[in-house]
Amino acid sequence: MNEKQHSDTTKIAVVTGGSRGIGRSIALRLGHNGCTVAVHFGQNKDAAEDVVAEIEADGGRAFAFGADLADPEVETGFWRSFDIAAAEKGLDAERVDILVNNAGVTLRGAIEEMGREDFLTQQAVNTNAPYFIVKRALPRMGEGGRIVNISSGVTRIAFPEIIGYALTKGAIDAFTLTLAKHVGPRGITVNAVAPGVIDTDINASWLRDNQEAQEGVAAGTALGRVGQADDVAGIVAFLASDDARWITGQVVDATGGTQL
Ligand code: NAD
Repeated sequence: MNEKQHSDTTKIAVVTGGSRGIGRSIALRLGHNGCTVAVHFGQNKDAAEDVVAEIEADGGRAFAFGADLADPEVETGFWRSFDIAAAEKGLDAERVDILVNNAGVTLRGAIEEMGREDFLTQQAVNTNAPYFIVKRALPRMGEGGRIVNISSGVTRIAFPEIIGYALTKGAIDAFTLTLAKHVGPRGITVNAVAPGVIDTDINASWLRDNQEAQEGVAAGTALGRVGQADDVAGIVAFLASDDARWITGQVVDATGGTQL
């Protein structure tokens, strides 16, 4: 990575699903940029602690905290867990500067196939959790606050086999737009990043070790390759920075030109 930057030195950044994939890359990037990173995890505490260790080895500050985003009590449970972990680190838990709603699940199944329970779980993690996490984050955010939601290219390119997932991400785009208007007067920006296919665990079942699938995805992009987690992290880091202060309510495409 480039030489360490110091512009974000005092900022506290929360990254949901920060233990792996795109969230891990975002956490590492924000840590490198000087933020104190709260690395949220669902179940994999060890992986989250590894991310914390990587950030610290890079000269940054971080801590991990766990919360199940499918839990109906996420509104209180998420922040209770954050507060406990922050206090253990000796931090002012009342303040959050950057919130990245990254965690998500993709449950495959056409509309005729997906059961109600899976549909509702996906909805809970991808859509309801960001809403309730933001609800309790806003009192902690001041002028210059940044919210970045991870959406998806599937809101503009149709994949009927993940229609329920597309529904959750379309909701995130609408949430981003509307929330940006609501909190704009407080100097808080809200944006989304919409990745195309990225080589992470979420796609492992059909993409990893499948040369044909990888070539198909690469051929569908203008840039001719499969996206990597770090391709997304840099865009998120920019939107979370002071330099992005005049951008709000936007969904930034991160598909390598898939729809061109
Ligand atoms: P990933 O599976 O590697 O990571 C998902 C993260 O969400 C994990 O850290 C996981 O622990 C967390 N998570 C899932 N369910 C949870 C729960 N119930 N409670 C707490 N945490 C939970 O996948 P990824 O590709 O890194 O996905 C990150 C985000 O990017 C997701 O919102 C996903 O929808 C979005 N996205 C991914 C792609 C892609 O192709 N990989 C494309 C577009 C959008």
